Amino acid sequence: MPDLFEKCYAYNRPDPFVASGLYPYFKPIGRMWGPRVTVDGRDMIMIGSNNYLGLTTHPKVIEAGLRATEEYGTSCPGARFLDGVIALHEGLEDSLAAFMGKQAALVFSTGYITNQGVIAPLIARNDTVIVDRLAHASVIEGARLSLGKMRRFKHNDIDSLRNNLEASSDSSGVLVVVDGVYSMEGDLALLPEIAATAKEFGARVMVDDAHGIGVLGETGRGTLEHFGVADDVDLVMGTFSKSFASLGGFIAGSRDVISYIRYHSNALMQATAMPPFLAAAAKAALEVIQTEPEIRASLWDNTKFLLNSIREMGFDTGPTCTPIVPLIIGDDFRTLVLWKRLFDEGLFTNCVLAPAVPEGQQRIRTCLMATHTREDLEKVVEICGRIGRGMELIP
Ligand code: PMP
Repeated sequence: MPDLFEKCYAYNRPDPFVASGLYPYFKPIGRMWGPRVTVDGRDMIMIGSNNYLGLTTHPKVIEAGLRATEEYGTSCPGARFLDGVIALHEGLEDSLAAFMGKQAALVFSTGYITNQGVIAPLIARNDTVIVDRLAHASVIEGARLSLGKMRRFKHNDIDSLRNNLEASSDSSGVLVVVDGVYSMEGDLALLPEIAATAKEFGARVMVDDAHGIGVLGETGRGTLEHFGVADDVDLVMGTFSKSFASLGGFIAGSRDVISYIRYHSNALMQATAMPPFLAAAAKAALEVIQTEPEIRASLWDNTKFLLNSIREMGFDTGPTCTPIVPLIIGDDFRTLVLWKRLFDEGLFTNCVLAPAVPEGQQRIRTCLMATHTREDLEKVVEICGRIGRGMELIP
């Protein structure tokens, strides 16, 4: 019988990148404090983090995490179903439901397993889940784990969605799942059109708003608030690893649906609950999101400054309209070289190659934080411009 591990011995895709000194992944960060990090003892500007509001260093968030640790210890070593629930989880769920304007919410240990733990139990054998082609991997995996059928429609293409809905007419029930903000593109789902089309066919709609909540909307309620479609979306998912400065995820929706998920989701029942300090930090972050709108305003000031500057220089930033600002380069080699030169100049960015984006769309992804200073961003612009011109990526 062939050895199962043969593929592991043969796997060598990273080797040439490592050998040429261009390997951009798994970089250990030494010190980290908001937009300032140290790598190999060198100070760098972090311009690749989803810590959009910079709340990982907010005094109220840190204080809440410390207090919860003193009160409960470091972990809830049990599944939520049995001995893993503490008052902090329930308080967080109540606050999230109220914030998202839904009847109920349920928190999970990570955002990733939230998608798996929601989609898999909802999509039964004769149901269909229709997902946008660019939806997050955890959405796709949730769909694959389900017993029903998965279909994928072209990114933000309403005709393609409609065709898939028509082709699902023999399903018992249909769920359409999209991201609110696409994490590699920075563009938004066309939620009003998507929700209206789904409704025409009697399908339900779920939005993964990992990158939207805290960032978009007049009061930070995310992409649904931005478009004014909160009542047209049945389920909204969020993660605590971005604007909430923590780790974990949640789903919000009607009481009956949340109750069904509570009793049918292995990811909820069998996985150990969020540790107390993370639940407390997420709850404190939610309070800050609601009471300190100036932080969101500062994120948007920074976004406008960087996005305009990078575009004016001639970089292709694609369709972004959010704090995710990609520099689309289009091939592995030049993307890796650009990443390395930026890194050597003290900028920590994300190098994104296929299959995370389609071939020909390779890019450097930068992300803004509310706590970047104007001086930080002027430095980012100066370095990107100088290196981009040197590599003849821009005029
Ligand atoms: N959904 C989206 C759109 C994401 O970008 C991510 C993480 N990057 C997740 C879900 C998973 O969330 P987490 O990493 O917090 O588990």
